[in-house]
Amino acid sequence: MRMCFSLVAVLLVATANAQQEFEYWPNADYDPAIPTIEKILGHAPGERVTWHRDAVRYFDALESSQPDRVAVHRYATSWEGRELIYVVITSAENMARIDDIKHNMQSLRNAGQTSSDEANRIIQSAPAVTWLTYGVHGDEISSTDASMLTAYHLLAARDDSRVEDILRESVIIIDPMQNPDGRDRFIHGFEIAEGLSPDPNRLSAEHDQPWPGGRTNHYLFDMNRDWFAMTQPETRGRIRVMQEWYPVAVVDYHEMGGDRTYFFAPGADPVNPHLTATQMKNQELFGKTNAAWFDIFGIDYFTRDVYDEFYPGYTSWTAYFGSVSMTYEQASTRGLALRQYDGNELSYAETVRKHFVTSLATAETVANNRQKLLQDFYDYQVSAIAEGRADDIRAYIIPQQSDQAGADKLAGQLVRQGVSVGVANAGFKACSQDYAAGSYVIDMAQPTKRLLRTLLDADVPMDSEFLAEQERRRAIGLGTEIYDVTAWSVPLMMNVHAEPCDRLPSVGTTPAGPELVHSPTLPDADAKVAYLVPWGEATAIRFLSHALLEGLSVKSSDEAFTLHGRHYPGGTLIIDVADNANDVHRAVRDIASASGANLVAVDDSWVTDGPNFGSNKVVRHNRPDVAIAWDSPTSAYSAGQARFVIERQFDYPVTAIRTARISNADLSQYEVLILPESRRGYGDVLGAAGAENLRDWVSKGGVLIGLGSANRYLADANIDLLSIRRENAVVEDDNDSGEPSNDSGHSSGDSDEEPEATVEGRNLASLSDYENSIAPESPLPDSLSGVLLRTEVTAEHWLAAGVASPLNVLARSTDIYTPIRLDSGVNVARFSAPDELLASGYIWEENRKQLAFKPFAVVHPSGRGFVIAFTYDPTIRAYLDGLNVIFANSIFRGAAHARPMH
Ligand SMILES: [Zn+2]
Repeated sequence: MRMCFSLVAVLLVATANAQQEFEYWPNADYDPAIPTIEKILGHAPGERVTWHRDAVRYFDALESSQPDRVAVHRYATSWEGRELIYVVITSAENMARIDDIKHNMQSLRNAGQTSSDEANRIIQSAPAVTWLTYGVHGDEISSTDASMLTAYHLLAARDDSRVEDILRESVIIIDPMQNPDGRDRFIHGFEIAEGLSPDPNRLSAEHDQPWPGGRTNHYLFDMNRDWFAMTQPETRGRIRVMQEWYPVAVVDYHEMGGDRTYFFAPGADPVNPHLTATQMKNQELFGKTNAAWFDIFGIDYFTRDVYDEFYPGYTSWTAYFGSVSMTYEQASTRGLALRQYDGNELSYAETVRKHFVTSLATAETVANNRQKLLQDFYDYQVSAIAEGRADDIRAYIIPQQSDQAGADKLAGQLVRQGVSVGVANAGFKACSQDYAAGSYVIDMAQPTKRLLRTLLDADVPMDSEFLAEQERRRAIGLGTEIYDVTAWSVPLMMNVHAEPCDRLPSVGTTPAGPELVHSPTLPDADAKVAYLVPWGEATAIRFLSHALLEGLSVKSSDEAFTLHGRHYPGGTLIIDVADNANDVHRAVRDIASASGANLVAVDDSWVTDGPNFGSNKVVRHNRPDVAIAWDSPTSAYSAGQARFVIERQFDYPVTAIRTARISNADLSQYEVLILPESRRGYGDVLGAAGAENLRDWVSKGGVLIGLGSANRYLADANIDLLSIRRENAVVEDDNDSGEPSNDSGHSSGDSDEEPEATVEGRNLASLSDYENSIAPESPLPDSLSGVLLRTEVTAEHWLAAGVASPLNVLARSTDIYTPIRLDSGVNVARFSAPDELLASGYIWEENRKQLAFKPFAVVHPSGRGFVIAFTYDPTIRAYLDGLNVIFANSIFRGAAHARPMH
């Protein structure tokens, strides 16, 4: 922000005076040798929202000033090139043996390899590690400023026995900013909107973030849902370094709506059943210390409400290595001041202060309970191993399978989360099944047992009392209290087989490594006729991308075929030697090595079953130019995730076009256009001209792909780009009087008459009459609570080439569509029958009945092009790997099947 100098001077004097009155910690006596925030950055704590580069600069200054008590570590780089750091703070005595301290925590974690004498020695004598992590949501701004103040206070406070205890008994690790890209995006939007002084009015542009907002990272991911999926480099870096230190307590600092107070542990119901009672009980230790300080300072707070620990993709992932994992939430000013609805003016400094107070209180709790927390951490590992040995599920086996790239990725992801995964050295039999050499074997008798159960089980049940309460709330029209999804079984989301077995297979194994992509199988000799890449794996999608970008001529078969006795799935890529330049042999090997795709060389084309290479069921791929609608009214998550899947999982470029441009832009240069989810709908922004532009472009050969709620627009009767329709809820008449129900209560009469001032009277004779009379006239289905559902796939269709059936889909909205009629298109994937529908999670009974047999993937031909609908977004959080093939088909095979005039 730039203002004329005199104004800056006036404001600085004004705010400096205010700061002098604002005491972060009453009567603290600070060592003047320690650099203050003001000295290094030019503003007092809470006076400005600190940029990423400045926060890093401050921590570097603390390290330079106090190298014997502070160490700054770089652990990852964001997509936009910003460094992520964590800062170690402890006493000089502890810092001198910091590697031993780290090693001690690793020894407690690896309880199976640590003698109980050694564990006892560590528990008696070693400092414990506290991890304070801030700002995963970039527009939840106060936490980073609180982290700097926390570090300063720990280093500068003099004659404070509390701080001395903290530094002696523990190691404090501060991650000041988990999402620097989002934070700087927020600050940029805030600063360009600033006026003469901070505006507390919530309508002011300062408080009104432009699309996409600062919550998410560069690819618009909510990284507090990404922990076990680890799709983002920021998350991967964190998971790696946290497993060097194994903190006994982890707090993730957030902000919530500006009219609330402050939330800290204990968390809300429901609790994941794979968390232990001790972990939940220990949250009270922290809550009580926080509460005691808040009582002294006269600060309001709440506990046990809203923020639950059921889904393991939050920071609560850290609980599965045995820490006490907690979320704290401060009311946000989303700027430097906010007038709350009760008239109170909340300053940024106050919000910074509350996170600062709980940061110190949390460190104090660990210091005061050091031995207990270390003991509990160790006992967690010992009991996990014992439970795994006695569990009904004694092992998980990931067999060799058609999507082996998916199986390999799953194994690598688990290794990265600390799981010991074995690779079978030979074939074996277990639980009445034969398994090939190379199958993955996971012995559950290991410290990660509870993480494994929560990630690999088909279902993690919710507490039945909690569910009964949700059904009761739903029946009377109150919102339900399910915060996120109810299903996340990783094998189901990846469509990979992982099979539980009640005994440990007796087969020798070799430890699996952390790599997500394995070296492919390459042919011994060059092909005489063609190279084939079997379709159905992520590696093959990347092969196709690279091959098209390098200008190779590639065909693929819509249907499966057999050649030399080997079965090739639909979609298998065919690279004819005769169609390509002389260096094709080297090119395909290089691309296979880079993508991890298996490559087969064939010396003749004699197909014995299925289409020949020259059949009209074999298409030649073009190199489609792909565009995606970007900016309002798209859902930022959906736009970012779809772009991420195409750019970073398929390795293919995408052009992001601001949605309003689509109304009148010349789209003829694009083969494919993706409309991400939009709950607001595209109608307002695209207008009549936009609808006509899209219709014209599709009819001339464009492929228009609607994700999730984007189809509300495409299937709207007035737009009619897609001849399916969104359904209201099925209203079952439960009027037990046997008479026809008069559920509207409206007076009869022609609609063009003046509405009458009163309506016909009616007795409500029973509770069900009453319930009918208050029900909305055309209600939408209740929103699905994030469930994994099975769909059946029409294997013969090109959209389904190489796609496994049944195929699991994550559903979490109110959207249910009618199937497309045969004369308009094809329902390529439809939901299963009611009793087979649910793969995982908790589904409302009405949804289960109404969703059965309804479409998930629809192809609607229109002129020379297609409209393709996915009624639920297949790219959500980029963790539904099982849907990548059908999504890739919609782009690449859709473009190959369209018939634009060239
Ligand atoms: Zn948050």
